[in-house]
Amino acid sequence: MQGLMMNSPLTITSMMEFADKIHSDTEIVSVTSDNPRHRHTFSDAFKRVRKLANALQKLGAEKEDCIATLAWNDYRHFEIYYAVSCSGMVCHTINPRLFPEQVEYIINHADDQFILLDVAFLPLLEQLDGKIPSVKGIIVMTDAANMPETTLTNVYCYESLLESESEEFSWPDIDEMDASALCYTSGTTGNPKGVLYTHRSTVLHTFAACLSDVMGLASDDVVMPIVPMFHVNAWGLPYVSAVVGNKLVFPGAKMADGEVLTSLINDEGVTYSAGVPTVWLALLKYLETSGKTIDSLQAVIVGGAACPLSILEEFEDKHNVYTHVAWGMTEMSPLGTFNPKLDREALGESEYARMRVKAGRCIYGVDLKIVDDNNVELPWDGEAFGALKVKGPWVCSSYFKLEESDAHDADGWFDTGDVATIDSLGFMQITDRSKDVIKSGGEWISSIDLENTAVDHPSVLEAAVIGMPHEKWTERPLLLVIKKEGAELSKEEMLAFFKGKVASWWIPSDCLFVDELAHTATGKLSKKDLREQFKDYTFPS
Ligand code: AMP
Repeated sequence: MQGLMMNSPLTITSMMEFADKIHSDTEIVSVTSDNPRHRHTFSDAFKRVRKLANALQKLGAEKEDCIATLAWNDYRHFEIYYAVSCSGMVCHTINPRLFPEQVEYIINHADDQFILLDVAFLPLLEQLDGKIPSVKGIIVMTDAANMPETTLTNVYCYESLLESESEEFSWPDIDEMDASALCYTSGTTGNPKGVLYTHRSTVLHTFAACLSDVMGLASDDVVMPIVPMFHVNAWGLPYVSAVVGNKLVFPGAKMADGEVLTSLINDEGVTYSAGVPTVWLALLKYLETSGKTIDSLQAVIVGGAACPLSILEEFEDKHNVYTHVAWGMTEMSPLGTFNPKLDREALGESEYARMRVKAGRCIYGVDLKIVDDNNVELPWDGEAFGALKVKGPWVCSSYFKLEESDAHDADGWFDTGDVATIDSLGFMQITDRSKDVIKSGGEWISSIDLENTAVDHPSVLEAAVIGMPHEKWTERPLLLVIKKEGAELSKEEMLAFFKGKVASWWIPSDCLFVDELAHTATGKLSKKDLREQFKDYTFPS
């Protein structure tokens, strides 16, 4: 017997209409290239969303078209999210840090019809002139006074387009399984792969993110998403904030600028933020050198890469900011696990430190398991580590326009490419990417554990560990370290630092000091490039 409840479609339009009605006065503050502190409200934003929807329709954009963005986090990008998805089109956020050839590949693969972009990215598109035939028009996200000169044709000004449009728009009916947004994974091998979100997956992900032991936001919070809107929809915050009704603060291009972030936090009363470890390092460094404080900030999420304990401790002990570690990926919208607020007193110092660096427990809606090489499920004992697989309504079922992929097994589980442990309380901990795992004498060594230990040394700015061929053990860890400015640190001292902190056979076999470490377009250490860079290295005999 079927139940008797309404089958209202779960759409981004419904979130937008709710926010417009219930949270109309909520403020959005942005740093943009044409205004260091732009302010408007949800009500203003959604009026402009309707104007933009009219403008796109007039330009010839149609349902199911992919409409791309090349943009930082700001109010115009927020407006584009809603105008495009709620018109039944697909909002394709492109990472501008990718190589031009990758951007070209992605635009052509997605068959993008229009591109909306920040002024700063116009030269990137000029390089691609003639190579992206599907693109019918380029809309520069600025006003007439700040429109740059360009060699490109079919270029429009965002504000001029909106000016003459009506504030009324009749939103189309949308099936909840319709595509809403598209994001390509940066991929360490091969071409980037597209993840196509649905309206339904976005709404369900938003509900989950709002749970108390997940983001747990309220309408009196002030949220600054530092994680880019081109990287898995800023971890869902532009949608969560619409439903919760919290004030939004967008840092624009200034996401790694400690000084700008500090003044935004203090001036706007930011209570909550989200970003990758690199961003937090920049902020903490600025706070240390300037002596400034960030009193309004209560909690931040760190994710996207392993986070050293020292960041968590510095935030809490010096600034009274609680840091939640979260794990997820582009293919998961992105939230998979979240480390909730832990009770320091009840756990005791060492257990507290051990638990809080973990990626946390899976969020209701996501199912997790770890398996061995034969796909046999491993125990949740905090010791066994294996390939991490996931299932759930906001996990991708296949890649965009890619028939063949070995990411899903016969039972529909998605292989995340991560290697992890899960303890008896359900707390997951990433030990490596499966491609980066070091196998020494047949046993696995976690490069992430070694990197985290290295950066806990007060003289270390950043560290990477890669597996290098070894005569006796097949592979051994090689440690690469960037020292802090002016710091004195010898190789022997660095390697001795691992004693007692990791198993003795895990201690790297050598350490090299370097000036920089290769990163991917999403700011993660690029182990593939590092392995290539050090391919001629041999361990001292
Ligand atoms: P992306 O799709 O670019 O967001 O990258 C997802 C990948 O980032 C995951 O598969 C992990 O390898 C890594 N990652 C994300 N969060 C964490 C975390 N908390 N700890 C360690 N690695 C993480």
